[in-house]
Formats: sequence, C-alpha cells, structure tokens
Amino acid sequence: MSYTEDTLLALQSTSPAQEEFFQAVDEVLRSLRPLLDSDPRFREQRIIERIVEPERQIFFRVTWVDDEGKIQVNKGYRVQFSSTLGPVKGGLRFHKGVNAGIIKFLGFEQVFKNALTGLSLGGGKGGANFDPRGRSDGEIMRFCQSFMTELHKHVGPRIDVPAGDIGVGTRELGYLFGQYKRLTHRFDGVLTGKGLSWGGSFGRTEATGYGCVYFAEEMLRARGESLEGRVCTVSGAGNVAIHAVEKLQEVGAKPVAVSDSTGTIHQEDGIDLDLLRQVKEVDRQGLEAYARERSDARFVPISDYPENGHHIWTIPCDSAFPCATQNELTLSDARTLLDNGCTSVCEGANMPATSEAAAHLARSGIAYAPGKAANAGGVAVSQLEMSQNAAMQQWSADQVDSRLQEIMVAIHTMVSETADEFGHPDNLVHGANIAGFRKVAGAMIAQGVV
Ligand code: NDP
Repeated sequence: MSYTEDTLLALQSTSPAQEEFFQAVDEVLRSLRPLLDSDPRFREQRIIERIVEPERQIFFRVTWVDDEGKIQVNKGYRVQFSSTLGPVKGGLRFHKGVNAGIIKFLGFEQVFKNALTGLSLGGGKGGANFDPRGRSDGEIMRFCQSFMTELHKHVGPRIDVPAGDIGVGTRELGYLFGQYKRLTHRFDGVLTGKGLSWGGSFGRTEATGYGCVYFAEEMLRARGESLEGRVCTVSGAGNVAIHAVEKLQEVGAKPVAVSDSTGTIHQEDGIDLDLLRQVKEVDRQGLEAYARERSDARFVPISDYPENGHHIWTIPCDSAFPCATQNELTLSDARTLLDNGCTSVCEGANMPATSEAAAHLARSGIAYAPGKAANAGGVAVSQLEMSQNAAMQQWSADQVDSRLQEIMVAIHTMVSETADEFGHPDNLVHGANIAGFRKVAGAMIAQGVV
C-alpha cells in the first residue's frame, strides 16, 4: 500500500465520523502522490502523518442567557492546525451545523491556502454550533462575550488571530473584540475583519469576493478569455457572494442568479445589487423578499428542488461561482453546468464541490479554480490588517486593493506553474495542493520534529 493510502486508512480509524475532514485530506493527498514519490524525505520525516494532525484542538462549553431568561448551552471550537509558517490564522463560523469534523476540515484547508498567499501565516479555524439567525442583538452579544471568555486564553497577535466566516461578520467581531479587550486590558490586533474605526483594514470585508473574481479573471486571461460579457451564477448571498457579484458587475460580467438557505433568485437582466444588499445585509431576510420587490425576478424556494438548494446550478451560465458552503455542488450539478455550456467554475466557498464533482470539473478541461486558491483573498487582506495593526497604521483602500490584486495574480502563477511542473497543465487543484504542501512541508522539515 502507498504512503498516502496508509495515512488515509489510519485517519479513518483515528478520526471516525469526520467525513468533511476526511474528504479534504483525501483530496490533498491524491494530488501529492507524484511529489511524495519524488522525495523520500517526506516519508522519512513522517510529514503526512504530522500535517493531518492539528497542533492543538480546544473544545469548550459556551453558556449564555437568552432574551427569555433561559440558559442556553453551545459547543465552542478552536483548532490550531499549524503554526509552521506564522501565527495561526483562520475564521470563526457560527452555524447550527458546526461540529469538530467541519472545523477540522476548514482548518486543514486553511493551512495550504495560507501558504499559497506567500505571507507569514499558519492555519486554523474555529466556531460554534450556534445559529445566529432569529437571535436579537442582545443575544448575539451575550453569546459572543461568553465565547470569547474562553477563547481569549488561547489567542494573541503572534499566536492565533481569528477572523469571520459564515455567521460571523463585523457585528459579531465587534462583540468578540470588545470582550477580548475587557478581559485582557489590551487593544491588540487579535481579530481581523474589525470595523474601520477600531483597527480594521479597508478592503477586508470585500476581499474574499473581490479576490475570487480577480483570480477568475487571471485564470481566464491565461486561456485568452475574459469575464467581460459573461453570464454568471453566484451561489450564496452573504459576504463572499455579495462582493463577488459587485466585482463581477464592475468588470463587465453579468451575474444573473444568487441563492441562500431559503432558495434561489434568477433575474435574467442582472442582479440588482442594491436590493440584494438591502434584503440580506440591512433587513436580514430570505431571498423571497427580493422577488417581492422585483416582478422580473424569479424565486425558487429550496423546498421546490429535490436536491436541497442546488437549483442555481440548473441556470445556464458561462461562469459559475460557488460562494455559499461546503458540498453545495454535486456531481449531477457539475454535469448540468457543463451540459448547459459553463466554461469556468471559480470557488469562493471552502470545498463547495463534492469529491466527485471536483474530480469531474478538473477532468473536463474547463477553467476550474479550487477554493483554497481562489478564495485566499480574504486571509491575504487579513494579514495586511495584521501588518497595519502591528505598525499602528491604516493604509488606503487603493493600496490594499492593489496588494490584493498582486497576491491573487501571484497565487494563480504559482498554482499553474506547479501544475505544469508535475505534468498536469491547467489542473489548478493539483497545482494548489502541491504548491501549498511543498511550502509547509519544507518549513516543517527545517524546524525539526516539533
Ligand atoms: P455568510 O454567512 O456571509 O454567507 C453564507 C451564505 O450562504 C448565506 O447567504 C447563506 O444563506 C448561504 N447558504 C448557506 N447554506 C446554503 C445552501 N445550502 N444553499 C444555498 N445557500 C446557502 O458567509 P461567507 O460569505 O463569509 O462564507 C461563504 C463561504 O466562503 C464559506 O464556505 C466560507 O468558509 C468561505 N470563505 C469565507 C471567507 C470570508 O472572508 N468571509 C474567506 C474564505 C472563505 P442565509 O443567508 O439564508 O443564511
């Protein structure tokens, strides 16, 4: 049996019932076979066994009191996967589906993504099985304060710097930061995605969605194509999706559909961005509210679609941007996209394609960018926020945006050159996995057995 197969088998018995984590590891290890065969040091140093094991996992109880005076109990997580390349960095996710396997998969992916940025960043992830939807501001604040009461013992500007993710935006980061400051008596750059007047960076909120579009542009440019005039579908209607829609419109593409956990909006003459923002960011409603305002938009509720929310992938498009959540694009969705003429898929979300869908897209020859490369803009600008905090400075929006563009272009170059080097031209999945791994593994060897 091969080194990677041995490790996968061992992982199945030591991390049972963590399907998403296993899926993420399996995908990376499949790409690594040619690299592992070419250099015996990886096996001798047991790099694979070490890299799939988080340095530290913190699981904790989060207790808080709701508006009716009832005591609520949630599970909190922070997985510090790797500090090999720098302080641990990765978001916090508040969502009812969060469990140890999801946080581990996200932390594992983050290690390689952060390596691809070329910046000094380790990788990790955290969160809680807390559903912020329908909760009052007071409840969100009390939950965040309780969460940080434990988390503050484990984070710090040179140790671990969390950010937002699903369910954690500027409001939640504000409550988390306030509690950190109260407990530690320090105004530290310990979280990124902060508000502009209290240590945040211009461009951080927009960075993942914008960066994803910059990556798509670069990937298409390498094929002599561009985003201009392309009909696009963007799943999700949160931070990443909204900013992807915004940048797509700016570069002359035509996003015609978005989705959320309640259903899909299709508007053939293009999404009305102001209305989308009003519905999702201001009123915090489901997308049906969008269709009530625009008679030319069609809303398809999630209940009308047997495969739970994937209606968006049946809408014909030139380019698809999965920007909602993991495993939201199945093999049948991938086939439908290709049958309908889609020629590029660029992932804003983390692992949005199932293993079968990702393999199918990679084999198809269309332009396909995996999330760990295409959505790295968020963490890259987080690192720029850390740099600004350390220097007690704030850079202009233009400075940050041009750094973001340079970083996304550099990631594309590194990933495509690595794909070529290992005999898989245009396979950016292999390119991203090998390039990210090579960097982390090389540093692990240099740092000894720790
Ligand atoms: P948000 O919580 O802001 O938005 C998530 C959106 O996805 C929401 O609109 C949500 O619906 C929707 N959604 C959730 N599940 C489904 C589903 N099954 N079908 C359709 N829509 C769904 O999160 P983000 O935008 O921050 O994150 C989105 C993805 O991008 C995640 O995978 C995240 O890990 C990844 N990512 C985020 C980064 C960031 O900087 N924020 C950085 C890198 C990656 P509803 O509005 O109804 O809740």
